[in-house]
Amino acid sequence: MINVSKLKKGIVLDHIEAGQGFKVFQQLGLDRLDDVIVLMRNVESTRMGKKDLIKIETDLTLDLNVLGLLNPGTTVTYVEDGKAVRKLKLSLPEQVEGILSCKNPRCISNTEKLGPVRFTLANRERKEYACEYCEARARL
Ligand SMILES: [Zn+2]
Repeated sequence: MINVSKLKKGIVLDHIEAGQGFKVFQQLGLDRLDDVIVLMRNVESTRMGKKDLIKIETDLTLDLNVLGLLNPGTTVTYVEDGKAVRKLKLSLPEQVEGILSCKNPRCISNTEKLGPVRFTLANRERKEYACEYCEARARL
C-alpha cells in the first residue's frame, strides 16, 4: 500500500461516492495536470461503507461548483505544511454557469451566441437546474 497520508501541501477530496472518483477526476481536468495526484477507489468508510478519495499535491484552484454539482457531499480539505488549514463540505450549488447547457433546441441560448448560460437549482433531490432563458430543466 502506498503511503499517501503525508500530504505536505495540496487538496484532499474526500467522501466522494464510490465509483464516482474517476468521473470527478476527469471533470476537474486533473488528467491534464503535472502534479502528483492519487485517486483511491473503494476506500473503507464508516459513514458511507465505501468511498473514493483524491489527493492532489498542488495549490491549484479547483472549480468547487463543478465538484458540488457532480458529487455533493464531497469534503474538501486544504493542506499546508502537512496540516489541514481549511475544510469545507460541498453541497449542490444554487447556481452554475458555463457547466450545463440547455437541451431545448428553440432556446435563445442555442440559437444565439450568448456566452455561458446560468442555471438555477430547481429541484435539489433530482439535481435539476433551470435555464435562465427558457426555464427548461437540465442536469449533469
Ligand atoms: Zn434554455
